[in-house]
Amino acid sequence: MSLAPPRNLDSGSLASGILAGDRSVVARAITLIESRRADHQAAARQLVQDLLPRTGNALRIGITGVPGVGKSTTIDALGTFLTRQGHKIAVLAVDPSSARTGGSILADKTRMARLSCDPQAFIRPSPAGGTLGGVAAKTRETMLICEAAGYDVVLVETIGTGQSETAVSDMTDFFLVLMLPGAGDELQGLKKGVVELADMIAVNKADGDNVARANAAAAEYRAALHILSPRSPNWSPPVVTYSALTGNGIAELWATILRHREQTGTTGEFAARRREQQVKWMWAMLEDRLHARLKSDPTVRGKLPRIEAAVAEGSMSPAVAVDEIATLLGL
Ligand code: GDP
Repeated sequence: MSLAPPRNLDSGSLASGILAGDRSVVARAITLIESRRADHQAAARQLVQDLLPRTGNALRIGITGVPGVGKSTTIDALGTFLTRQGHKIAVLAVDPSSARTGGSILADKTRMARLSCDPQAFIRPSPAGGTLGGVAAKTRETMLICEAAGYDVVLVETIGTGQSETAVSDMTDFFLVLMLPGAGDELQGLKKGVVELADMIAVNKADGDNVARANAAAAEYRAALHILSPRSPNWSPPVVTYSALTGNGIAELWATILRHREQTGTTGEFAARRREQQVKWMWAMLEDRLHARLKSDPTVRGKLPRIEAAVAEGSMSPAVAVDEIATLLGL
């Protein structure tokens, strides 16, 4: 079997198709990024490197919330609102659980009825398989491909598990946390870590009988945010209510995101956050690579069970074990 990538995955022709905004080429490039084949991965790396000067121009927005909070309804409403204004929207997802379930429901086209038939929108479910780090790395590269293809707003969806939220917040400019109406119980379920990542908390389903409960929840979240030190000295995360179903408040959500962009742009925070993210990304990829090497090195693999057992029974100190493994790896 030839190891050369198929002709249609050649990075040069892919790059020109992507820059021309050809959706099918974008989809093929993402397939290349998601492939585990070493030659595909090398081609994907080259492709991203080649396209790098044409990336970075989108506003990157992370969206999280428990299942049922209304993420897909919100993305459908916000995305449609934005494409009507002439924006091109990419919807991506980070769902590490898709490795176990074999498929991600996040960013599934069937959940976004209007956006999925919108020619100005591109929806891609979470890459499946691998560690959270691996899934996040693929989503980041996919985001760059979408930016090079001219998508100027990228929405990255994730579910309310602390680690994947951190990963998404580390690749976006604005992190939107969605909440359900109903104070008290909800507040108890509020994970402090997630709220600390939030650039805005939005209580969805503020419609019909839910309005009062949504307002009460918002008031409680406001009080809770008050006692946390804000992530940025120049931005106090607002707490708002809206309805993805009626569209009420969607325009205001976007206005707040733009206000944050403008303010953090003026203070230099926007650029600083991206610079930090780039460096973090490098380290995350390096750690992944080292980890992969550790797991695949035949000598280490052969000796690991004995070393691990010795550490477990206390006959070898963890530090000595690390020394031994590092020596085997030539570190
Ligand atoms: P996800 O799991 O977070 O993506 O949530 P979905 O967008 O699939 O929404 C879950 C359920 O909540 C669906 O039945 C939606 O119709 C409903 N829903 C979403 N947004 C709203 C809203 O603004 N108001 C009301 N009343 N229901 C909503």
